[in-house]
Amino acid sequence: MKKGIHPELKECKVKCACGNEFTTMSTKSEINLETCNKCHSFYTGKHMTARTGNVQKFKEKYGIK
Ligand SMILES: [Zn+2]
Repeated sequence: MKKGIHPELKECKVKCACGNEFTTMSTKSEINLETCNKCHSFYTGKHMTARTGNVQKFKEKYGIK
């Protein structure tokens, strides 16, 4: 998928800690998120603490390696 015409913006694969994946346009080829729209509502529905520390728990919960 090398175009070379518009290297500043390309399709970017976004991975969230909750396991959700989607694509967007970015200068990066891959982005890792702690939260996305999908799990943001989950977070806001609960007590929001130590997001970063909860990533590992999320991975375990959803079986992500
Ligand atoms: Zn998410």
